[in-house]
Amino acid sequence: MAGGELYDCTIVGAGPGGLQAAIYLGRYNRKVLLIDRGGGRTWHARHIENFLTQPVITGAEIISRGLEQARNFNVEVRKGTVTSITKEGHFEVSTAEAVFRSQYVVVSSGVYDNFPEIENFRKFLGTSFFTCVDCDGYRTTGRKLLLVGNSVYTVRLAFAMKEMYTSDIALLLIIFDPPEDYREALADEGIPLIKGRPLRIIGEDRIEGLELKDGRVIPCEMIMSNFGFKLNNAFLAGLDLKRDAKGFKYVTNHHYESSLSGLYIVGPLNTGHDQVVIAAGEGAVAAIDINHRLLDL
Ligand SMILES: Cc1cc2nc3c(=O)[nH]c(=O)nc-3n(C[C@H](O)[C@H](O)[C@H](O)COP(=O)(O)OP(=O)(O)OC[C@H]3O[C@@H](n4cnc5c(N)ncnc54)[C@H](O)[C@@H]3O)c2cc1C
Repeated sequence: MAGGELYDCTIVGAGPGGLQAAIYLGRYNRKVLLIDRGGGRTWHARHIENFLTQPVITGAEIISRGLEQARNFNVEVRKGTVTSITKEGHFEVSTAEAVFRSQYVVVSSGVYDNFPEIENFRKFLGTSFFTCVDCDGYRTTGRKLLLVGNSVYTVRLAFAMKEMYTSDIALLLIIFDPPEDYREALADEGIPLIKGRPLRIIGEDRIEGLELKDGRVIPCEMIMSNFGFKLNNAFLAGLDLKRDAKGFKYVTNHHYESSLSGLYIVGPLNTGHDQVVIAAGEGAVAAIDINHRLLDL
């Protein structure tokens, strides 16, 4: 049941977006609750080298240091899964255990990748099996790369990867047949097109190839998987928030406030890009805006 306590802000998700918002609001001496279920996308990033001042840092380190920093500014951190958010005057944020009331909400619950069915890919995830070009494309520079996907976007990505990172690239499509002009362009670029269903990665400490269900093995050192992602947004279902033209990501204003007044959405759930530094920056913007509004009350 909702208690008498009223938080200034409840934050959903302790990724870079939620943690940065928590740190800002904590430093305004606001009453802040951060609810997180653990194990998000950043947690799985093993090698982040594009974050200012950090030559290399793991996502787990960013999260654990961020949690410590937020707690030092008196942010209350609770483990739990948010199941719904409603607004009638104040927001009510529910988990299985309790309902929390707050004046503002920052949603920073992130996304999760769609992975192909490959038996043992998790062993290599974040070291030589990648899903995000902005994150890890650079690390494929000059390497023998296999790009796996199933859409026209994957075919376009093959050209982009060749232009930026490596000419030693092959493209595996599960069942998608690219249009003839794309096939011709792939041939012109010297990018072999293979059709088939992956089974498992060959190699113990490093990737040596990808075995297909029909027994063929495609030699490679690195794999870029391109199957898109889904949003961690089940708890927003009842709110009828404005989405983009595809009805997918949430539309926000320049302070990252959604179409529902007082509810902010930061990180890859909104229409912006998906990076640690971007989610963190958006969390800071949302927190500053929330604080300005609290001062006006
Ligand atoms: C393998 C890998 C490598 C990456 N490498 C890089 C890189 O090099 N550089 C870079 O900038 N970015 C990288 N990223 C992307 C980066 O992790 C994301 O951009 C970033 O996570 C977005 O931040 P976020 O705040 O949305 O947090 P997320 O890390 O997605 O965290 C969201 C949090 O919300 C929690 N949550 C979700 N639903 C609920 C709920 N209902 N209730 C409570 N809590 C909930 C999750 O458990 C999680 O803790 C990488 C991602 C992966 C997977």
